[in-house]
Amino acid sequence: MKALDTAQLQALDREHHLHPFTDFKQLGEEGTRVIERAEGIYLWDSNGNKMLDAMAGLWCVNIGYGRKELAEVAYEQMQQLPFYNAFFKTTHPPAIDLAKLISEVTPAHMNHVFFCGSGSEANDTVFRMVRRYWDLKGKPNKKTFISRINAYHGSTVAGASLGGMGYMHEQGDLPIPGIVHIAQPYWFKEGGDLSPEEFGIKAAQALEEKILELGEDSVAAFIAEPIQGAGGVIVPPETYWPEIKRILDKYDILLVVDEVICGFGRTGHWFGSDYYGLKPDLMPIAKGLSSGYLPIGGVVVGERVAETLIEEGGDFNHGYTYSGHPVSAAVAAANIRILRDEGIVDRVREETGPYLQKRWRELADHPLVGEVRGVGLVGALELTNDKAARTRFDDKGSTGTLCRDFCFNNGLVMRATGDTMIISPPLVITKEEIDELVEKARYCLDLTAKELGVI
Ligand code: PMP
Repeated sequence: MKALDTAQLQALDREHHLHPFTDFKQLGEEGTRVIERAEGIYLWDSNGNKMLDAMAGLWCVNIGYGRKELAEVAYEQMQQLPFYNAFFKTTHPPAIDLAKLISEVTPAHMNHVFFCGSGSEANDTVFRMVRRYWDLKGKPNKKTFISRINAYHGSTVAGASLGGMGYMHEQGDLPIPGIVHIAQPYWFKEGGDLSPEEFGIKAAQALEEKILELGEDSVAAFIAEPIQGAGGVIVPPETYWPEIKRILDKYDILLVVDEVICGFGRTGHWFGSDYYGLKPDLMPIAKGLSSGYLPIGGVVVGERVAETLIEEGGDFNHGYTYSGHPVSAAVAAANIRILRDEGIVDRVREETGPYLQKRWRELADHPLVGEVRGVGLVGALELTNDKAARTRFDDKGSTGTLCRDFCFNNGLVMRATGDTMIISPPLVITKEEIDELVEKARYCLDLTAKELGVI
């Protein structure tokens, strides 16, 4: 395509491109921002504006932009074997290599992986694999999934149903049957007068109440993100996961830990499950698996489920054309080696994660900020009009949008979920770049506060 200017690109985009999670009418009126290139942790738009990408694309570019090694691996693999499937008793070296590598970086009891193309497909796979497992165990009534309100598990029918986003459920009669949602451990919004610790226990006990209400014999699995990402980087109170573990130990229910965001180093550990000491039966993965350089996802399967699926025999009637796509698999393997061999995950744990968390928490003194939270290289700020009461300026999330727009226009990509500002920068961010991120965030908070007449 001949080089087009920004206005031409925007016009064509408006005419032909329907964007994800978008009000098409509004976008048509306002126009899009055209991102043209990226390097390290920075993006450039078609007008030459440089922006610090504090969202790593969409929580995925863990090794940062511009790693030529990945382009070379893709180029070579495309010439060697651009596609072959893994159906009909066939396989290929990139899928084998990647499966082995994944088993090395995941928790010790997890040594098998089922490949797919995305996080949503991974959760669709979870939905079917869990039910298949219980069928094989002779307990076909164990069908129901317990998830959480405001969880995000994808946009396919099963993914959106497992997720707990009310505005997604409103469209298309979701959730599908067999999926129920309990309260989330979101202290800032829902903790009331309880301390975070008390609230963490209460939120976890909702799981036990639901199991007792439904009957253990009908519950198949509990699914949760270690830290809810799209819901607003909700870091649960410290008491939450230990109480969930206590409950799960008591009942015969599978634990599915959705690692699509927390996986591959985000918390400074390989997986959120490592950070919280969880022992998942299944882990959906995507995003950081390839650092977003090519689409790929998977479900990592722990011993208990893998043994049953393998030993009982019989087809698992599920799979995708692109399960273990050779080019995506080769790129993902190269990405994992970079994360491991360059010590990127270790550096997040020991150096840049603690540094970001220290600097990020300095924003707590800002008049608009009601809470600062985060782990490793993921963080959130709650915007409020009353720090003690933890209330919002309005219920439309307009403060978050205002702040996000100031960020975009001042060289910082920070996302807003309602009035929660969230960050999840590439894992290669340096301390100097963290300083820049925090300073830009403060500047944009100031602009927001001035606009609202707060300062
Ligand atoms: N699970 C979680 C926790 C996610 O954050 C996402 C995407 N944001 C998904 C699943 C779905 O992944 P994808 O968009 O690749 O389908």
